[in-house]
Amino acid sequence: MTRTRFAPSPTGFLHIGGARTALFSWAYARHHGGEFVLRIEDTDVARSTPEAVQAILDGMNWLGLAHDEGPFYQMQRMDRYKNVIQDMLAAGTAYPCYTTPEELERMREEQRMKGLKPRYDGTWRPEPGKTLPTPPSNAAPVVRFRNPLEGTVAWDDLVKGPIEIANAELDDLVIARADGTPTYNFCVVVDDWEMGITHVIRGDDHVNNTPRQINILKALGAQVPLYAHLSMILGADGLKLSKRHGAVSVMLYDDEGYLPEAVLNYLARLGWSHGDDEIFSMQQFCEWFNLDHITPSAAQFNTEKLNWLNAHYLKQADSARLAALVRPRLEARGVAVSDRPSLSAIINLYKERVGNLNELADAAEVFYIDLHPRADILVQYLTPEVMPALADFIAGAKEVEWDAAAISALIKACIARHGLKMPKLAMLLRVLLTGQAQTPSVDAVVALFPRELAVKRLSAVASK
Ligand code: GLU
Repeated sequence: MTRTRFAPSPTGFLHIGGARTALFSWAYARHHGGEFVLRIEDTDVARSTPEAVQAILDGMNWLGLAHDEGPFYQMQRMDRYKNVIQDMLAAGTAYPCYTTPEELERMREEQRMKGLKPRYDGTWRPEPGKTLPTPPSNAAPVVRFRNPLEGTVAWDDLVKGPIEIANAELDDLVIARADGTPTYNFCVVVDDWEMGITHVIRGDDHVNNTPRQINILKALGAQVPLYAHLSMILGADGLKLSKRHGAVSVMLYDDEGYLPEAVLNYLARLGWSHGDDEIFSMQQFCEWFNLDHITPSAAQFNTEKLNWLNAHYLKQADSARLAALVRPRLEARGVAVSDRPSLSAIINLYKERVGNLNELADAAEVFYIDLHPRADILVQYLTPEVMPALADFIAGAKEVEWDAAAISALIKACIARHGLKMPKLAMLLRVLLTGQAQTPSVDAVVALFPRELAVKRLSAVASK
């Protein structure tokens, strides 16, 4: 059974890079009918916060990346890690080391002066026939992993291809500190092993950890998972992704009015491709996604493309669903949403023309507030020649059938009677009713308003 995991450290929000890693891990499990595990790596107690855990859970939930198991919290698994350390000490694959931090520093300094790579010198490493120094009576040791001295550690990275590191390059890693707490790489290893992870999909900032993790897994007799290291995401300017271009919480995309399906579709194409396909559902993505078409080079963030996808998904989305997403945005602005006109009727008319949910809220807001069109826009459209036609329209509006077809006929009749071109009256109606000269089809916009409200807004200036 394929088992993947997403293992964020809760030291900040779920950002775009993390969300893509989560998406790929999730989709890989789905593709293979496997399981997706969520693991919170909270052992860095100084930097981990409950708020960050919540932000990660909220982000995953908003994106709809449901886990099959977890969330597991590493801080709740300390006893398990300590037991494995005891087992390794007993098996001789790990050993206590009493070298003090000061001694280590001196050792490294001497190595540097000799032009050597700084490393632990193996003083406390047991070897056949070697007599170890006598442990000091009042010092607690760290525990080191007994890394193989010879040979290489190699894996066929599912993104980067074959990677091989000489064991001579690797130190005997500290797996438990003097106070007994296990270290980062060790917890990851025990978890990947015990959680039966078959595919580790993660950011390539972890490539350097992988040979150490593989050696420990082998020492434990564990099945070594396959690894796929995803390359970084760069900003559009080719620089490391910063707050300015996307390294922000995925929840900020919610604030900015993006739909989760647009963000997911966008993330899916960050470093992965399926021919020329740009727009696809998550169901489609899970059917297609394997690790064969992930580019090993860095992906570039492109806000325009995200915006384009968002506009696409807004157009497609069910208006009632969008209304449920727009309503709280209006309420947060203090706008009282009524059902005359209904929010979903407004959205139905406007969703093809906007880029995000906040623009949709902007468009809907004018239907519910006490609107005062801006004076500079009014002077532009409220010309003496159009006033009689406006009065005519208001008179007719009190009587006609209140639907777009009848309103359209009324507009045409009014301009014909006063010898005007269509935009003269249509633009004025738009501005008086919505405050804006650009709207969807004028008859449809007028028809959205309850008749009395339309007449009231139009009469407010006509009588001046
Ligand atoms: N906790 C690590 C991080 O947030 C990920 C570890 C892993 O995926 O192995 O970067």
